[in-house]
Amino acid sequence: MENSSDRTAAVIPPGSTIGILGGGQLGRMTALAAARLGYRSVVYSPEVDSIAGQVAAGQVEGEYDDKAALARFAAQVDVITYEFENVPERTVAECERYRPVRPGIAPIHFAQHRLREKAFFRQAGIGTADYQPVCSEADLAAATALPGILKTCTEGYDGKGQARVTTQDGLKAAWDRLGRRECILEALVDFHCEISAIVARGLDGTARCFPIGLNDHRDGILRTTMVPSGLPETVLARAERLGLQLAESLGLVGLVALEMFVTRDGRVLANEMAPRPHNSGHWTIDACGTSQFEQLVRAICGLPLGAVDVLAPSRMENLIGEEAGDWLRFMADPTARLHLYGKAKARPGRKMGHVIYVGNWGALPSTASAHATPPDRPSISRSA
Ligand code: ADP
Ligand code: MG
Repeated sequence: MENSSDRTAAVIPPGSTIGILGGGQLGRMTALAAARLGYRSVVYSPEVDSIAGQVAAGQVEGEYDDKAALARFAAQVDVITYEFENVPERTVAECERYRPVRPGIAPIHFAQHRLREKAFFRQAGIGTADYQPVCSEADLAAATALPGILKTCTEGYDGKGQARVTTQDGLKAAWDRLGRRECILEALVDFHCEISAIVARGLDGTARCFPIGLNDHRDGILRTTMVPSGLPETVLARAERLGLQLAESLGLVGLVALEMFVTRDGRVLANEMAPRPHNSGHWTIDACGTSQFEQLVRAICGLPLGAVDVLAPSRMENLIGEEAGDWLRFMADPTARLHLYGKAKARPGRKMGHVIYVGNWGALPSTASAHATPPDRPSISRSA
């Protein structure tokens, strides 16, 4: 968290250089947005020729514990951000010796560890599913949140490191399969739908939430996001308030995404957070007054935050694995805007790009894969 003197720190103007820890698609799209505003980006990644580095003014290659390489990286930039939440805390601390890192250490400290994250939500007044630690035989014997989902506390993403469990025996077997690592058992939420709030907060504490997206996951991976979500105002207002509460509690300067469940009785529960641009915010590139990537640049450079008005209804579809091979078909569709990440190899489950359908997409036949069918529009009449 930054101290108050930082709040009056000078604006980092266009022409300056932004350092990005991480070389994936989120870094790539951040660098593209930064370039549009006249900034340079330098990417730090262990990977030679990373897909973010390909569109940046420069890249420094190094492991996340390589102090000399981090110093070289920091020397070339004016401010540093990260594009994934598993960047080690020590790496951020090392960078902070030289340049401001926004959003800083606190958000990754909580986002990297599911038990810490859930405890933080609760302490910030943000409700979650019931959960219990599963870190020992004793925890295992005491676990009652069944049916539930057992998740490793660290390093899970896109549904990896998770197992659905219904019985004590199943729980024990799942914990064995996950290598008896530190885990969290979360009660299974019988949700109506999943949504996310993406909130930007600037150096002066001003915060803005993008319109809430309705998310559809398959096999633990995000497939589509739709905006507007079609949910009642009461639910949307509740979700937005939780997102803003989270950003404020973190003392965030940057961007944070909060994934939430909407229960069948209209309650909104936090699932997880990511203190960086989020897959469910990609629609903002083509269908919002400001993209989430531009908003991140504005926030960390001390600029005023941009407008978050929806310009047109949109549906984002991820292109996973071989689906991106259909690029010619998406290009021929006048309602589709194609974004490819430049990844050399398609692997099953790998996010290769996305398509944003803009306009009255509900009435148009989708050209995308079998997964294209949008989930039913939610309608929760009751509010809790
Ligand atoms: P990841 O880091 O892999 O995104 P999540 O915790 O978001 O991990 O889980 C992935 C998906 O699994 C969620 O989007 C949701 O569809 C499902 N899921 C996760 N936790 C729960 C839960 N407690 N109850 C019901 N579904 C869940
Ligand atoms: Mg998730």
